[in-house]
Amino acid sequence: MANDLVSELSGLHVVSQQELPSTEEPGNDELPLPDPSPIVPSVSREEHNIWKADYKQTEDTLCPCGDEAHNNLEKWYEDYLESSAEEKLLLQDRFNKAALEDNIQQLSSQVPVSNGYCPSCQKLLDEWPGIIKKVPEYDPTELGGKRPYQQAHYKNTLEFEAGHRNGCQLCTLFVQCSINRGYPLENWHKKENRLNCLGKSTLILVSVQSEEGYLNLTLTWPGLDNYCWLPADPLYCIKNYDQKLFTLKKEATRLAAHGELSQLELAKKWLDACLETHESCNSTEDRQLPTRLVDVGSTPIRLIRSSDLTTKPRYATLSHCWGTRNFHKLQQDNIEDFIDGIPEDKLTKTFQDAIYITRALGLRYLWIDSLCIIQLDNIDWRSESALMSSIYGGSAITIAAAGATDGTKGCFLKPPGFIGKVHMELTTGEVWDFAPSEFHRSVVKSHLAGRAWALQERLLSPRTLHFSKTELFWECRHCDASESFPEGSPGFEYQHIFHRDRKPISEIWHTIVKLYTGAQLTFAKDKMIAISGIAQKAFEETGDQYLAGLWRKDIELQLLWCQQSPGRRLLSGSEYRAPSWSWASVDEKGFVYYSPKVEGTKYVYHAHVLDANVVPAGKELFGGLVGGELRMSYSVMLAGEMNRIQGGYWDGMDLSYYEVDINSPGDNSDKKETFRIYPDSDELDGRDVYLLPVLETLGTGKYNKRNLKGLVVLPTGGKKGEYSRAGFFDLSAFDEGHRITQDRFLGLLEASGKATAEARCADVLEEPESVEERYVLTII
Ligand SMILES: [Zn+2]
Ligand SMILES: [Zn+2]
Ligand SMILES: [Zn+2]
Repeated sequence: MANDLVSELSGLHVVSQQELPSTEEPGNDELPLPDPSPIVPSVSREEHNIWKADYKQTEDTLCPCGDEAHNNLEKWYEDYLESSAEEKLLLQDRFNKAALEDNIQQLSSQVPVSNGYCPSCQKLLDEWPGIIKKVPEYDPTELGGKRPYQQAHYKNTLEFEAGHRNGCQLCTLFVQCSINRGYPLENWHKKENRLNCLGKSTLILVSVQSEEGYLNLTLTWPGLDNYCWLPADPLYCIKNYDQKLFTLKKEATRLAAHGELSQLELAKKWLDACLETHESCNSTEDRQLPTRLVDVGSTPIRLIRSSDLTTKPRYATLSHCWGTRNFHKLQQDNIEDFIDGIPEDKLTKTFQDAIYITRALGLRYLWIDSLCIIQLDNIDWRSESALMSSIYGGSAITIAAAGATDGTKGCFLKPPGFIGKVHMELTTGEVWDFAPSEFHRSVVKSHLAGRAWALQERLLSPRTLHFSKTELFWECRHCDASESFPEGSPGFEYQHIFHRDRKPISEIWHTIVKLYTGAQLTFAKDKMIAISGIAQKAFEETGDQYLAGLWRKDIELQLLWCQQSPGRRLLSGSEYRAPSWSWASVDEKGFVYYSPKVEGTKYVYHAHVLDANVVPAGKELFGGLVGGELRMSYSVMLAGEMNRIQGGYWDGMDLSYYEVDINSPGDNSDKKETFRIYPDSDELDGRDVYLLPVLETLGTGKYNKRNLKGLVVLPTGGKKGEYSRAGFFDLSAFDEGHRITQDRFLGLLEASGKATAEARCADVLEEPESVEERYVLTII
């Protein structure tokens, strides 16, 4: 199998479109937290429909080419120049594939590839030193960056495809980057076809833009010089990249760069170098072995009990997607069979690959969840899943089947002819590398990364080999590397929480919560369990009290979590999971985020947590729960009614939002003041709720002097002063309008906040720590 993988880096193969990786939503894991201010659609649904009707009324003119889909081509062209032409219009185009094929074949001889590049790309590379002198310098104050330098590159899309088919490395990299964005070559050809009908230019430009520390290289759509609407992921251009983050032997680097080293030979070199030279990766902690391991050194492979081992051997762990298909697992009734021998041919392709990889890395033992934990056995599952921190934390390496959607896919998914970078040595002596952000697309946004369990598997492991749908990537506590950059990935591939400069887990808890809640769980009941390993690790770092996904230190900030959009509270009657003040009590609608404490920011508190506790379901401290509550001291509170405001739909997205109506005090008691809030679930329309200000951050800007945040709570109907959390509100003053809203709220607080607080509390403190915060409530 390893031999099949040799020499895939040369990039001289001809790649057909089918062989290239399938497209996936482009995205960015590092986007800033969404602004919790109201989403204001630029065009309402109604307006959108009117615009649509207008569009249909324009005159229909049949294109001379006879394609009925080519009506209103002038209108399409107008939109195209504005980058607002709808891609889906192209679906209607009658598209003559045979004629296209003939054209490309005819053109092929005019696009000879020598030295790895077609004439257009060779010209670009020859002129490169002159080009980069003309690129406007990066200016951080310029929003969106300066307009890039552009120059003609391909005559048309046929030349682009011919260069790629003839094996031009840069053309192929551009094709991959276009497919990454969701635009196969057919889109390019259809656009060119329309431009031809209109007699317009089909020239494709290459754009070079400076970013912080890099140049970006990309193409424009045919006939456009518009950089806003990128048809392809950008290529990062890096000069003289010789950062040796990994010390591989010289020969190994040379072989890896030429694609002569197989993925597994390279992986072994990474592992050996990490074990020998990386201090931060080689923890001396004495970790407990997993209860069971698969011995892949024996024939047949078999299950062993680690208590039977006399030494503490190194072992590998697997991180994988189960998928929906059934597969061979360890069960109560086959344990003895597994100990005698596990039939390898009955295992999934991913498991077989993992066994092969483990052996190739020189390891004898492998831990796979479904082969080492007794399935359908609650007791074994509970106790073993509580050991994740030591199972993954103690493993020598985690094999991540990052690209596989289920067990049938396996680990070796790199398409033939895949190119990870173009490496160019200029006559001037400069060396340039051109590469897309492949790690982001193939690992960060991989199918596996969407699985909630995988987060802790990756975060806890000292080393991970990501077998992605493209390249092989290495990740350890010291650094990261890839087949394209075997001695260390360049900076644009950094992942803040997994890589270099890795901070203690406790310091990045807010990011972990965001990633974790944004990923999928097959069983929502595992919500507290699948993060328990990371929680335990954070606990080992700080010794802080763990409270259903929150920590006691600075808990007031963590209580102010907000879900991307209202989710769903557990149905009544379903098994208890977490108290309502924990984000773990809500499901389904995207990630949860909160603002962590920022050093140097001034906070003013209106409420404090006096004490909090949770009741574990079993003896595992970080696992499932059966109860929990917290008591808060607070100063003010407002009563109101929660209302859902219909906002229509935009692009299938429900734009409804929630407000709380509060009666104006005094003479205007009929008048209602309304405030936007963020409910935890969609089931609270018309309910009487209370707004509980928790804290303010004091800013220094013109408007953000006071940013007031708090909780929306709902009386449980049980004891007086007992509430459950119903949502979150944020009265930050971003601008004049928000400042006025904030003033209205502060006015109401002034008028009735204290009286409401006193009337609705569970208890009044005789000697409060802060004179203001003398009222007490309970949230369950
Ligand atoms: Zn036409
Ligand atoms: Zn080319
Ligand atoms: Zn390392």
